[in-house]
Amino acid sequence: MPMYSEEIIEEIRSRNDIVDVISSYVQLKKSGSNYFGLCPFHNENSPSFSVTRSKQMFYCFGCHMGGNVYTFLMEYNKCTFPEAVEELAGRCGYALPKQPMSNAQKKRQTKRTKLKNIYKDAANFYYARLHSSGGKAGMDYFRNNRNLDSETMKNFALGYADKKWDSMYQFLKQKGYEEEIMKDSGLVVFDEKKGPRDYFINRVMFPILDASGNPIALGGRVLDDSKPKYLNSRENEVFEKRNTIYGYNIAKRTRRDMFILCEGYMDVIALHRAGFDNAIAALGTALTKQHVKKLKDSHKKIYLCFDSDFAGVDAALRAIGMLRLLEVDCKVITMEEYKDPDEYIKAKGAEAFEERIKNAENSFLFSIRKRREDFDVNDPEENNRFFRNMAGRIITIPTEIERENYIVVLADMYNVSPDSLRELIRDVSKNKDELNAIEEEVYKGYRKSDFFNENDEPKVSTFPKKVDAKNKSKEGLKETEGILLTWLLDEPALYSAIKEYIDPMDFSEGLYRDIATEMFESLSEDKEFEPASIMCAFEDNEAHQEIAKMLHTKIEGLESKKDKETLLKETLIKLKNEGLNNVDKTKPGAGKRIRKIKEDIRNLRDIDLL
Ligand SMILES: [Zn+2]
Repeated sequence: MPMYSEEIIEEIRSRNDIVDVISSYVQLKKSGSNYFGLCPFHNENSPSFSVTRSKQMFYCFGCHMGGNVYTFLMEYNKCTFPEAVEELAGRCGYALPKQPMSNAQKKRQTKRTKLKNIYKDAANFYYARLHSSGGKAGMDYFRNNRNLDSETMKNFALGYADKKWDSMYQFLKQKGYEEEIMKDSGLVVFDEKKGPRDYFINRVMFPILDASGNPIALGGRVLDDSKPKYLNSRENEVFEKRNTIYGYNIAKRTRRDMFILCEGYMDVIALHRAGFDNAIAALGTALTKQHVKKLKDSHKKIYLCFDSDFAGVDAALRAIGMLRLLEVDCKVITMEEYKDPDEYIKAKGAEAFEERIKNAENSFLFSIRKRREDFDVNDPEENNRFFRNMAGRIITIPTEIERENYIVVLADMYNVSPDSLRELIRDVSKNKDELNAIEEEVYKGYRKSDFFNENDEPKVSTFPKKVDAKNKSKEGLKETEGILLTWLLDEPALYSAIKEYIDPMDFSEGLYRDIATEMFESLSEDKEFEPASIMCAFEDNEAHQEIAKMLHTKIEGLESKKDKETLLKETLIKLKNEGLNNVDKTKPGAGKRIRKIKEDIRNLRDIDLL
């Protein structure tokens, strides 16, 4: 991974104003000295996402996501730090120096770059071919069979691979690509006898784009009913099916609070065409752990919209198990009577589909409804087994209140009394084997730990952590420190009035003390304190969030000068008292420090600061 020097990182950061950059992703409105918009990191209806030009920081008062312009890009595009640096360098026209890399890195890097380039060129070639006279077959297919307009074809960069067996090969050769990379890309197959042949012949083409919209693979579909219906270019350094979500590059900007997860490319495209910009599909035949983790990180609800055939229902049940295991809110949009969303929209239109979204079924109830079809409910014994299965499923629900809600709803739906259902639950819960089998069935054999066991540690949720009583006083203290730091950042002139009373050592050890040290140093030299710049010294985004949080502490009740004086004094006294606790009494000079703090506290009570 390329590393850039601090100077370069800072130069690029300062050339990219955070308000300008974020505006191209989030609609912002000016309010006072801040800009506000709907947070792209959590679901909300009223804006609590703020961007401040003077601080060059963003911060969400709802989910506490925050940081500088790099943090934003990394979180928004789910990219690495070097990638964020590269993107911003490109944005401001900064020429990054070539990186000294190891040979292995160089090889990998150049291969990645070559692959990305070849897919980009190939996608452009197929797109141009679709729009040429030779592309009529593909164009007819998209227009007549799929009812697509030019805009949709452009948005998804759709294309056409013609009937000649070496169009792509000739194009790539003329572009100067080596045979090695053609082979690795999977676009050309080298046959010992027949020589080079295109992998995609007479197919409509669907480039597969990464989250930033770069082609990383190509998919092709036949125009008729011949087999195989779909082909994908091969997996390699830039493309892994298990990690890729089709349509995500567009859907990530949706205003809706949920994604519609469907089965294939055509479903996604048909839904986007009908105005549902939140449609996505997992690549490959089944949803993977990586897909599910990505969906969880998006903080969106997931509405499943799979085919209504047996395989589709099976895939939906599997997805529900995995999503529920990670506590992702999910529902099911049924396409019953129609095969898939594409067919449904063609027959009934977008409004009817919107109605189906509104009536989406609770995923837990869906699972039970589908499970019931496996039992002959006219046979009392089978019926009993069905209810035991239902009872076992209710036991898997983590909270008492939710379990109770489901008992009432299910008893009503399936005509049993809530009490007999409760009794059955007690009975099944005593039978460990039966319960394990049901759990296995619900979660499809997955355990929560399975999602986090590939060296990728569970990502710590960016939502406010539950604070237990022990941590509460610490949190309160940090708030006091945050008030002072935020205040000084907003009103640097205050520093001269209080500087003799404040010492970084009074702040909590760690980030708070580090930031206080940096800030007081800048202020004492009459220099501007730039938190967004300081942040770059901290590698992980969690530190960025913590810094953004401390520098966005809400300061309330400052109507008059007297209010200000009172709050400032209270804050300083609280801080000094904590400073007293921070003194390490085993160290030399401790006595002197304690005397100084006590004197400060006495003085603070008597004098006027402002
Ligand atoms: Zn938020």
